Amino acid sequence: MAKSLKKVLIANRGEIALRIMRCCRDLGIQTVAVYSTADRDLKHVRLADEAVCIGPPSSLESYLNIPAIIAAAEITGADAIHPGYGFLAENADFAERVESSGFVFIGPTADTIRIMGDKVSAIKEMRAAGVPCVPGSDGPLGDDSAENRRLAEEIGYPIIIKASGGGGGRGMRVVHNSEELETSIAMTRNEASVAFNNPVVYMEKFLTTPRHIEFQVIADTHGNAIHLAERDCSLQRRHQKVVEEAPAPGIDEATRQDMGKRCTDACKRIGYRGAGTFEFLYENGGFYFIEMNTRVQVEHPVTEMITGVDIIKQQILVAEGRELSYKQEDIVVNGHAFECRINAEDPETFMPSPGTITQYHAPGGLGVRMDTHIYNGYKVPPNYDSMIAKLIVKGMTRETAMSRMRGALSEVFIDGIVTNIPLHIDIFTDEGFLKGSVDIHYLEHKLEL
Ligand code: ADP
Repeated sequence: MAKSLKKVLIANRGEIALRIMRCCRDLGIQTVAVYSTADRDLKHVRLADEAVCIGPPSSLESYLNIPAIIAAAEITGADAIHPGYGFLAENADFAERVESSGFVFIGPTADTIRIMGDKVSAIKEMRAAGVPCVPGSDGPLGDDSAENRRLAEEIGYPIIIKASGGGGGRGMRVVHNSEELETSIAMTRNEASVAFNNPVVYMEKFLTTPRHIEFQVIADTHGNAIHLAERDCSLQRRHQKVVEEAPAPGIDEATRQDMGKRCTDACKRIGYRGAGTFEFLYENGGFYFIEMNTRVQVEHPVTEMITGVDIIKQQILVAEGRELSYKQEDIVVNGHAFECRINAEDPETFMPSPGTITQYHAPGGLGVRMDTHIYNGYKVPPNYDSMIAKLIVKGMTRETAMSRMRGALSEVFIDGIVTNIPLHIDIFTDEGFLKGSVDIHYLEHKLEL
């Protein structure tokens, strides 16, 4: 039985908290903001119906402080918690605590988060569902070094050793030959025990020039699942996405539907609930699953721009127990969209540049969307991620969208702190990127020149 939510607590900060708050307002749902003492002046804290301070600036004591967040939900009488992305969004213990305390968790079940958060178990599920994975060990590596060497020879060097519990681009090591193999396994295992409290490591073929292509899905609790096509997020620096686009250049409709269906079949198989993303490496026409993100992604707006589907709204409707109102055939890709992640950082050294924004002028016009919490006089605190805005544009073709992005970037004016806007301007005049289909090393190679 569907039950309308009346009050949602937003367990996050910055642009995504504001994005969720706006969506709740559209749906006539009351909002509770939670904030650290460094974030009293956040835009959504001012605009939410209620706001509760949950601790000091340190994330560990505020945005990662589970008891404080649950207490805030209890005090304000919220009936659901939206975790956003980052912080506690993929913490299965948090999802469990939210539900055992009697609140709705706007996301998948704790069990799903646990299975997909462990890479070995996620890959096992995906293989069983018919989702293509990277050739590899198909499970944890043992201590038999002769067997590990045999496996690596069979897969073919270079290979990569990955921690099953790893995340954020950590806990991985590329191995080029059999001499390095044993020590690499031991080192990755040690690091994984310390960093993730989980010594399990596995082996995969290392793809040398892949693109990063991911599929957006939404599933309800009635056995329905749809995909919202794909995004290309190959422009990365240190495994951090810098620019994203949808759809991915060069992916035809038949491939999109085939891969999308494999992802939605996997959702049905694991009983997935809510919005999620299947991430793939794409090389020589083949897709290779690397991981699933069980939450809304930073780059979700590019998908919204080309499909017209409000992904946060769908998350909330699914959490209310409603059936998806879209069928797969209702989802049509229309136009092309880009997103630039605007960070408070030096465009050359990439050092964070917190401080007060003395002047801010927003870009605008048809097909231009600026998702940001900044305003004139806003002080960017040094305590959190440096992303301060997402500039998203849509055009009917990739070329129109690119030229619209160049125009929008030239309109944004942020003074008082430095940002990476010059880097984005450089990217949107880069010949290789203009052509499309660059691999995940392209940006780093460009930056080294
Ligand atoms: P994390 O959870 O840490 O983000 P992922 O499994 O998503 O880990 O991998 C992060 C990044 O590492 C990928 O986007 C890709 O750049 C690189 N990577 C991971 N596995 C492989 C592989 N088999 N071959 C080549 N690159 C890989």
